[in-house]
Amino acid sequence: MPILTLRDYNKNMRKKAFYGLVTFISLMLTVWLTLYKPDNKATAPSAKSTTQTTADTTSTFNKQLYSIDQPGSIWWIVNKVRPVNPATYAPDDLVVPAVPLRVSAGDGEMRLRKEAATALEKLVQAATQDKINLMLASGYRSYQLQVAVYNANVQKYGQAGADKQSARPGTSEHQTGLAADMEPVSRQCETEQCFGDLPEGQWLAANAYKYGFVIHYQENKDAVTGYEYEPWHIRYVGTDLSTELHNQNNLTLEEFFDIVPDHQPY
Ligand SMILES: [Zn+2]
Repeated sequence: MPILTLRDYNKNMRKKAFYGLVTFISLMLTVWLTLYKPDNKATAPSAKSTTQTTADTTSTFNKQLYSIDQPGSIWWIVNKVRPVNPATYAPDDLVVPAVPLRVSAGDGEMRLRKEAATALEKLVQAATQDKINLMLASGYRSYQLQVAVYNANVQKYGQAGADKQSARPGTSEHQTGLAADMEPVSRQCETEQCFGDLPEGQWLAANAYKYGFVIHYQENKDAVTGYEYEPWHIRYVGTDLSTELHNQNNLTLEEFFDIVPDHQPY
């Protein structure tokens, strides 16, 4: 057995002290982690219950909760084969949302129905927190405005060209007061498909449903919606339906309600 020198003895003591310290730190870490665990436990079941709720909603979603035909319904579907009726319909609760606007607040196009305006404010605020600065480019469009825009386009491009540029009067979703064209505050890719590739467009695609909006005119759904891809155009339908459509792989309104037309009128 080797003789234990004083030096060895000190070495051993230091070693013991070191391992003691390690044990103590491990113990404290365990205590700390245990104390913080209730927090994790508190969030875990709620996350689970959310998933559960979503799954339940999917199976029992009430497609009749709101009308898709009734003017003023938040699920009202207006497209090229489902024109606004009466053609001169105008919502009675239009307001200017408190968000950055493309033109002055006095311009009638900077309005949305109250419920959609409030939802848009929340959406834009959330985007700002993620350093995404969105602006309202166009909201409500009156029948008269659609007539003026369409006629100007016919003069410029002929009828076929005009049909590609703008909806025929009375068929624009913007007349419901529930549709909004969004753009970056910088106005980059304003009403152009490249908006979909910008951080602003990507944020909108990923988050709009949380505030009750859907990207109605999705990519490669021309035959379904009657429109080419418009990543900037969002439609308010409320969070029940927007979440349901999001969970169903972004089904379009026409697909979800099984009203895809056999053919587009133009
Ligand atoms: Zn639009």
